[in-house]
Amino acid sequence: METILIVGGAGYIGCHTTLLLWQHGYKIIVLDDYLNGKYPPLPWAHIIHGNMANTELLNTIFLEHSIKAVIHLAASINIAESVSAPLVYYENNLANTINVLHCMIRHNVHQIVFASTAAVYGMPDTVPIAESATCKPITPYGMSKYMCEQIIQDLHRAYGLQSVILRFFNVAGAHQTEDLSMFYTSKTHLIPLLFHATMSEKPFNIFGTTHQTIDGSCVRDYVHVMDVAQAHLKALIFLKNGGQQLIANIASGHGTSVKEVIKTTEQYLHLPARIIEQQSRSSDPAQLVANIDQAQNTLFWRPERSNISYILETFGRFFLSA
Ligand code: UDP
Repeated sequence: METILIVGGAGYIGCHTTLLLWQHGYKIIVLDDYLNGKYPPLPWAHIIHGNMANTELLNTIFLEHSIKAVIHLAASINIAESVSAPLVYYENNLANTINVLHCMIRHNVHQIVFASTAAVYGMPDTVPIAESATCKPITPYGMSKYMCEQIIQDLHRAYGLQSVILRFFNVAGAHQTEDLSMFYTSKTHLIPLLFHATMSEKPFNIFGTTHQTIDGSCVRDYVHVMDVAQAHLKALIFLKNGGQQLIANIASGHGTSVKEVIKTTEQYLHLPARIIEQQSRSSDPAQLVANIDQAQNTLFWRPERSNISYILETFGRFFLSA
């Protein structure tokens, strides 16, 4: 049984990933600072409360457990906040990641799966976006992740660190039966905000309705959180089989506009949304849609649950019962 350390494993993606990996026979250790409010219990994982900045704690974990690979999910993720508080983002996402990498190298742990983001692409010139597209992050959040990507690749040359960098697009939805989401209360993401507004008959703001897209609203690529969990499993297998370095978009490969998400939500809830059209936000690209050939061809991963109806249905099931 291989032991995997999941840094930030108690968060939204982490909860779903820990469950899937445990079901596939991995022993899971989660290091998480539990600073983001409500968390579900994870009886299938060994939980260590602490921050990835704590070198002593990381050293102890690596000494006491025979860690095969690290999945690094811990990060500050509010894009707008990263613009107003960049140092917080560079400190947490970059400096603390360097600390994790230091400890890994020191303890001869040479496999990492790193959670990156579509935000590394900035405002893409064309969609779908392949991994080879130029990365021009436009926010400290995107930049902090891009810098981590660069460092991880340097560590391959210097120390033989094997890595899979997963660039997540818009992760959404929930496990089919296990209530693992503390995501319902997100104050920034489209789907939780839309559900809250529609259920309480409050207005919902669409940011931007005059983009060069199918209906003027922003287009995003929504990927189901269990498909994302599956991508981590595939990434671990890639590394175990001797894969050295890979960067892969994790997405559905299809764009869905904000207005399409609203329409599908209205159908699911049997309620009308009260829409208010707002100006677009400067940090919002009109379209973010991924080319997913790399993940399909190299990781043998498929987005099996990533259609918007299923995403909304799995999210809604727990949202409505919460
Ligand atoms: N969005 C919106 N109204 C909201 C929240 C989000 O119109 O109240 C739009 C946002 O502009 C983006 C899409 O919904 O085009 C997805 O936003 P989210 O914050 O979920 O993810 P992002 O793509 O910004 O990382």
